[in-house]
Amino acid sequence: MGENSKTIIIIGGGIAGLSAAAVLAQSSSVLLLEREKQLGYHASGRSAALFSETYGNRVVRGLSVASRPALENGGFFEHRRGALHIGGVADAAAIDELAQELQALLPSVRRLSASEVSAMVSVIPPDKTCGGVYEADAMDIDTNKMLSDRATQFKAAGGTVRLGEEVMEIRKTENGFQVVTNTGTYEADIVINASGAWADVIAERAGLSGLGMQPKRRTAFMFDAEDEALREWPLVVDLHEQFYFKPDAGRLIGSLADETDTPPCDAYPEDLDVAIAVDRIEQATTLHIGRPATPWAGLRTFSPDRTPVVGFDPRLSGFFWLVGQGGYGFQVSLALADMTAKLIRHEPLPDELGVSAEALAPERFLTTKN
Ligand SMILES: Cc1cc2nc3c(=O)[nH]c(=O)nc-3n(C[C@H](O)[C@H](O)[C@H](O)COP(=O)(O)OP(=O)(O)OC[C@H]3O[C@@H](n4cnc5c(N)ncnc54)[C@H](O)[C@@H]3O)c2cc1C
Repeated sequence: MGENSKTIIIIGGGIAGLSAAAVLAQSSSVLLLEREKQLGYHASGRSAALFSETYGNRVVRGLSVASRPALENGGFFEHRRGALHIGGVADAAAIDELAQELQALLPSVRRLSASEVSAMVSVIPPDKTCGGVYEADAMDIDTNKMLSDRATQFKAAGGTVRLGEEVMEIRKTENGFQVVTNTGTYEADIVINASGAWADVIAERAGLSGLGMQPKRRTAFMFDAEDEALREWPLVVDLHEQFYFKPDAGRLIGSLADETDTPPCDAYPEDLDVAIAVDRIEQATTLHIGRPATPWAGLRTFSPDRTPVVGFDPRLSGFFWLVGQGGYGFQVSLALADMTAKLIRHEPLPDELGVSAEALAPERFLTTKN
């Protein structure tokens, strides 16, 4: 049987599963199973929607650069937002160092003085900062558009989405799998684990030990500020990632930039985390947030080396991992979807991407004890 005639079940209807589904359905029969009653309910419905080429480790940056043309061509960039890392008054040396590091990655990155930072974001007074590092080409992503566009493409190519289907068990058969959900049993040659925070749970339901995937909670909320110019502010992130804020449809998103280890769940914000974020933002700016609106939390799931895990599991023929997108799931999803299609067809990844199959493969976390 050719690789294209193989049937595929994808577990998870977030941006990872949907992006892969849209590509794979062009040449294979694909069924996507999602436990919730809607797509994008978990991490993919809760992101800050930023694209930054300097964010994450070397492999993640390579994946982001590789995704950029498809994000642009798909019309998924909403606004040239910019990202500004700011330091406190005592952080000048560290900000200089960060400027050099980011300029080496992206020459257009600029070191800004305290007064330049203040001119760009009026609520940061020059006496509270040593200046910052500015990445002008960081972009707002239209995440709702991406989710609905990927789902539309998938269905148009003949793919099927089934909502409210929790995968309970994955049984190996002679030639493929039986996937048992709360409502039925489905068969496929290949199973793709795109279950986000539940990555290791799904592995266990297939009889495998997990790879050490760790969901980490991040807290965010909306607030208002009376400043005509706020729509044009960049995302502002503290040098030590103690907080960030970012314009969103005339309001601001604030976040503690927290990474609290959490079991997979429907994440809720802790009042204390919201209060600490409010305090930190108020300390660094002239903003008076008061009581923020609509706090939320989501899980960013990381592998032990903070690089996504994409590839077949050598322990179980046909079981494919597409997990560990951490805080970069939207900015890397289109490149990962193309790589998934190539890896499933046993084709090499193009050299120009600068990302090897080995850097993504699950093997890197498998030891003899697994
Ligand atoms: C606060 C916050 C800010 C972020 N900011 C950014 C950003 O600025 N830029 C960026 O690129 N990324 C950002 N991210 C990260 C991004 O949101 C994630 O990396 C991405 O959404 C992960 O997508 P996913 O499809 O892997 O996971 P999910 O969206 O969580 O999807 C996994 C799906 O699998 C389903 N599932 C699990 N178990 C089962 C089962 N047994 N049966 C059936 N279905 C199952 C779940 O219900 C879920 O819908 C942010 C995340 C958070 C929380």
